[in-house]
Amino acid sequence: MTTICDEACDSLLAATSEPASEVCYTKLDLRLITEGIRMDEEAPESYFLLCSTCHTPCSGADAHVIPRWNPERRKIFTTYRCGNCWLQPLEELRAAVASGESEVLASFCDFLTRQGYRKDADTIRAASSGQQKAYLFAIVDAVQAQKIIFHP
Ligand SMILES: [Zn+2]
Repeated sequence: MTTICDEACDSLLAATSEPASEVCYTKLDLRLITEGIRMDEEAPESYFLLCSTCHTPCSGADAHVIPRWNPERRKIFTTYRCGNCWLQPLEELRAAVASGESEVLASFCDFLTRQGYRKDADTIRAASSGQQKAYLFAIVDAVQAQKIIFHP
């Protein structure tokens, strides 16, 4: 667990220009990270999803449930992507978080709440906007590293 916290702190430090003392993942209760790992260790639930980019049916490790920022509707939606298409929306999400727009940050927290991470979402909402960005970057990284698995 020490390693995981260190990794999370490292990615937070890389993602923020705030002093190190102000941003540390230990301020979150780490439920996001630890639950993701716990779920990984259990037999993973398998979903049969349709990729919304290439419309290829996918399941198991090839089926990804991820948050996607929709710039037209100014909201983060849950989207399904296959193993070939899932990284692009994560890049778009990073760019949206980097913009620091309050709609992106608030919508990301709403998404986390919908996924059952209400406590973490509340913690992030209460943070400064710089800290919010750092937390959300760390979460996008953890999703890409498949330490956090979201569900349809
Ligand atoms: Zn696809």
